[in-house]
Amino acid sequence: MKADPSDRARFESLNPASGEVVDSFAVHTDAHIQAVVAAAQPAAQWWDGLGFDARESRLRDWARILAVDIDELATLIHRENGKPLIDARLEVVGAIEHLHWAATHAAGVLGRRTVGRSWLFPNHKPSVGYRPYGVVGVIGPWNYPAFTPMGSIAYALAAGNAVVFKPSEYTPAVGSWLVDSFRQAVPEQPVLSLVTGYGETGAALCAAGVGKLAFTGSTATAKSVMAACAQTLTPVLLECGGKDALIVAEDADLDAAAQAAVWGGLSNAGQTCVGVERVYAVDAIYDEFVSRLNAEARKPRPGSDRAADYGPITMPDQLGIIRGHIEDALDHGATAIVGGRDAVRPPFVDPTILVDTPEDRPAATEETFGPTLTVARVRDVEEAIERANGTAFGLSGAVFSRTRGMEIAGRLRAGMTSINSVITFAVIPALPFGGVGASGFGRIHGADGLREFSWPHAIVAQQAPGPLILQSFRRNPVLTKALLAAVRLRYGRRAPRGVKGSL
Ligand code: NDP
Repeated sequence: MKADPSDRARFESLNPASGEVVDSFAVHTDAHIQAVVAAAQPAAQWWDGLGFDARESRLRDWARILAVDIDELATLIHRENGKPLIDARLEVVGAIEHLHWAATHAAGVLGRRTVGRSWLFPNHKPSVGYRPYGVVGVIGPWNYPAFTPMGSIAYALAAGNAVVFKPSEYTPAVGSWLVDSFRQAVPEQPVLSLVTGYGETGAALCAAGVGKLAFTGSTATAKSVMAACAQTLTPVLLECGGKDALIVAEDADLDAAAQAAVWGGLSNAGQTCVGVERVYAVDAIYDEFVSRLNAEARKPRPGSDRAADYGPITMPDQLGIIRGHIEDALDHGATAIVGGRDAVRPPFVDPTILVDTPEDRPAATEETFGPTLTVARVRDVEEAIERANGTAFGLSGAVFSRTRGMEIAGRLRAGMTSINSVITFAVIPALPFGGVGASGFGRIHGADGLREFSWPHAIVAQQAPGPLILQSFRRNPVLTKALLAAVRLRYGRRAPRGVKGSL
């Protein structure tokens, strides 16, 4: 790939806690991005040609590098995103788990397998295999700069694609580190490449000839990405935000629910797409739950020191949104039992728990992406479910109940739900991850995540000449008539009540 001489502009990535410059990166031009994608095409063919076993071995090598260098990567995440070092380490653990799972299971999930024969064509053997798209573009966010993109990158690579990764402008150093570390495991070809810059760089990647585009970020930007990809009919995977609810039923363990609500809402400074933003507690336990929540939410402290529970707000513009949601809620009748108007102390935000927020205010309807929770009293579980399902988003949720967890979870309009815990689904690699509605569509993680980065190729092979040839002008009229009679016999009779049709 030839370097583009106009790639002179650079931008700096900063430590959000201190303002220190972490590193500087090129603002890549459209021509450069097209060149990177073009160079990735033969790399994709080479990588696909290695086959599942060789790819598994290379991806396990990469996982090994990440495991050995966990502290180096975590330190970079801590510096560039701001989260505490221990959280950064756990983030890398999650990334490694997914990488390992994708590598290990790709052959089983995507390898060609025979499927059921048709009684009409018993002499034909049908099979399905999953083929890679070629080059997949991954546009990543800054909130989990290693874990979240890995949910696309690992699964796309395991499926046999090359990947061009555009990290957020707030976390390019983490993105660059990931790509460099992959190169140690796969030095031969540019199977995983990096492009850097601002939103325009992401837009250029959409138009650069990728076979599929995986995006994580806001719903508004997802719409632009989808519109750009529509021009070339490039399929997209959109992982957008949420306004996730936690339901506390009357039979919940209230201590566990309060702890989970606080951690789910405040950890990572609330900058978690599947973080808890709303809590609905039923009337019977509401007062007791709120009192425990109140005590629990006073414990965590933001900061950049080793003892801090969560870090700064990574993206400075977000501070205004968080402040706006808190002030608007308070101006419209909400009460802050913890935190409040003074909670925003740039670059940090103190824990803020709002009760009695009107359901139509932004704090209850829009993604706040800060360490805040709205808590509402509901009559019963029915009302909790109705309110939890009452936003345009549908990413994830949580239910606390000793006996009714599955029943309540099954009625939530969300891609993922945890019962008696929060966010656990994200680190169980076999589970698909993604949302519905304004939270996007498509899935990373699990078998669905592997299939997301491949297309099904159906093959049917005639193994021996059969008696019934339908796909010919020399079709036998007697046999065709017999076939019609057989279909009437097979499907045309009313099944006795309670008996399922046979197939
Ligand atoms: P964006 O949706 O604007 O950005 C997400 C990614 O898309 C970044 O890498 C960004 O690049 C890139 N991008 C921006 N514009 C375009 C474009 N037109 N075409 C292609 N790619 C583009 O989110 P922000 O980072 O600005 O955060 C805004 C809000 O989004 C947050 O407050 C939060 O509510 C939500 N969000 C949700 C996330 C999630 O995990 N679901 C993650 C991040 C944000 P660049 O950073 O260089 O601009």
